[in-house]
Amino acid sequence: MDIESLPVTALKGVGPKFAEKLARLGLFTVQDLLFHLPFRYQDRTRVTPIGALKPGMEALVSGNIELTDVVYRGKRSFMCRISDGTGLLTLRFFYFSSSQQVNLRRGRTIRTFGEARFGPAGLEMVHPEYQLFDDVDPPAPQAHLTAVYPTTEGVHQIGLRNLINQALDRYLGGLQEWLPNDILPNSILPDLKQALQSVHRPTTAEDANALMQTDHPGRQRLAFEELLAHQLSLKRLRAQAQSHVAPRLVSDEAKLDALLSGLPFTLTGAQARVIEEIRRDLQHDFPMQRLLQGDVGSGKTVVAAAASTLAVAAGYQVAVMAPTEILAEQHANNFTGWLTPLDINVVRLLGKMDNKARQAALDVIGSKRAVVVVGTHALFQEGVAFMNLGLMIIDEQHRFGVHQRLALREKGTQGKRHPHQLIMTATPIPRTLAQTVYADLDVSVIDELPPGRQPAETVVIPDTRRDDVMQRIRTACLQDRQAYWVCPLVEESDHLQLQTATETEATLREALPELRVGLVHGRLKPAAKEEVMAAFKVGELDLLVATTVIEVGVDVPNASLMVIENAERLGLSQLHQLRGRIGRGVAKSSCVLMYQSPLSAQAQQRLAAVRETTDGFEIARRDLEMRGPGEILGVRQTGMAQFRIAHVMRDQGLLPDVQRVAKTLLQKYPDHADAIVRRWLVEREDYAQV
Ligand code: ADP
Ligand code: MG
Repeated sequence: MDIESLPVTALKGVGPKFAEKLARLGLFTVQDLLFHLPFRYQDRTRVTPIGALKPGMEALVSGNIELTDVVYRGKRSFMCRISDGTGLLTLRFFYFSSSQQVNLRRGRTIRTFGEARFGPAGLEMVHPEYQLFDDVDPPAPQAHLTAVYPTTEGVHQIGLRNLINQALDRYLGGLQEWLPNDILPNSILPDLKQALQSVHRPTTAEDANALMQTDHPGRQRLAFEELLAHQLSLKRLRAQAQSHVAPRLVSDEAKLDALLSGLPFTLTGAQARVIEEIRRDLQHDFPMQRLLQGDVGSGKTVVAAAASTLAVAAGYQVAVMAPTEILAEQHANNFTGWLTPLDINVVRLLGKMDNKARQAALDVIGSKRAVVVVGTHALFQEGVAFMNLGLMIIDEQHRFGVHQRLALREKGTQGKRHPHQLIMTATPIPRTLAQTVYADLDVSVIDELPPGRQPAETVVIPDTRRDDVMQRIRTACLQDRQAYWVCPLVEESDHLQLQTATETEATLREALPELRVGLVHGRLKPAAKEEVMAAFKVGELDLLVATTVIEVGVDVPNASLMVIENAERLGLSQLHQLRGRIGRGVAKSSCVLMYQSPLSAQAQQRLAAVRETTDGFEIARRDLEMRGPGEILGVRQTGMAQFRIAHVMRDQGLLPDVQRVAKTLLQKYPDHADAIVRRWLVEREDYAQV
């Protein structure tokens, strides 16, 4: 049977229950297992002498059990000391059974695999994997490296590895090659089976290293096909979208002129150019699918307002969607200020509204033409029925992710008519890259900041100098400047994040009694959030302590100072976004990146990059370069798809060939194109929600 349709239950040990859990990883068929790729490797191909172990090293070790004991040091643990003549190692178990205690006894021969760390009694491994051998010699170590796969709750590493091994041993032969040799570029290895084999089971550590980098031929083969799959599916989407019907939004430009002449500033050349691109798109009878890239502070909001004005003047509704309540509120205020004088009705749909207000908003949305509706993703939930949606604007798209973007496209549809779409992002990426990862979109760029902006001066400081930083803030605020103090996620829990922010606020209040200090975080009720933001905006607060909820979009031009705590934990783009909250006015602004020692090499690199440049394109480039394939951050921060093996920056060289091959396949082998897309882009649970 064709392995593309062979269910995972065909494998030994997989019943319907387990199959359900595998489905959560997007693993439905045997082919899916073959394409579930490792994100790193463990080396169990050789035994390491204990004397050569270093902290942080993952290693396979053999030895004799010298001593065992149950010890209490805060927590009860079972320890087992082993020796191989070159050194001593402690194996420590915090959870252990009595049979384990009996089995791990003095005199036996043990082989164990784990990560060595410094413990109270020298080097130890906590909860290592182990096997016992008496009298017999331990078998030779494994011939190839051990793959480590992405897992999920209820699917353990070892079980998953066994399944993938079964799939490789029994079914790899049945794998279809969809790329005819004659259309593959010369630099790409033709053999897909060999490529998979080498990625799942590299034979040497050098091989495994190369696999994690770029130049391994097997990795290249797979990366090529993965990029191709994305390209193909996006090209399809684009063709599909363009075959849909959209209302032509044509009007005289009196309202747009009125909007622009009422602004307290003149548009930059880039803003004017982009508005013109949008104006032309809106007049087509197929939906605009335009991505607007513009660095933080480049003035995307007013472009959105101009687009809205055009749509409304043509008699249609506009939906403006922001990723957070704070931002939605801010947009609603801006739009109201700009558009009400033009007799354009602006309606808000926010989570904080009571039933009555919500119902009133829904009534307008359902019955009145030519209104602008501003809200969060609640705009596209059940119960919201637009009367004649003509344009949909999604702000800060990197917060939503590619799959959500696609899902939204569907939700805005009315019968056969699709609204035009404008997607805005402050995470710009280089052009060739944009053509690949956003192949379904037309891309506009605002490559110019409003005049008079001065880049924020950025310094990197250890948090041992917190007192200095506080005094600096004090002095500045007493001179009428305003500041943010950002406490990012320190622990993987909202609750703890909140605690840090609350404690920081208390500390700052106490240390800086002359200042008016406020606190805003994600758990506050929307109304309370808004109140704090409003107070900060009008200058009733000097210092705003915040979690990363202020990361996107917030615009308070008078705020010119920012302190970011634990900056070492944040990604490059995130730091750049946060810093984008300052430097919006005429005052010189400064940003303090505070870190906790010791800094890892990567963190050092990241902080240096943020200090050295304020150019969003440069930041994005470095960010993509530093990140590994499939890193989770990638999805949230750039809104791009998450790749299993391809690395959008390092594999840039493949892109021209990917585009060429995609074209040929779609023309000559459309069935193959389908099969490749199905193979790489499996629906996953986490993609399905909006
Ligand atoms: P972003 O692109 O990050 O969304 P905003 O739209 O929030 O940027 O704009 C940042 C600030 O710049 C706002 O205070 C806005 O009013 C102002 N602004 C926008 N365009 C111009 C311009 N052409 N000249 C001067 N200020 C502008
Ligand atoms: Mg914005």
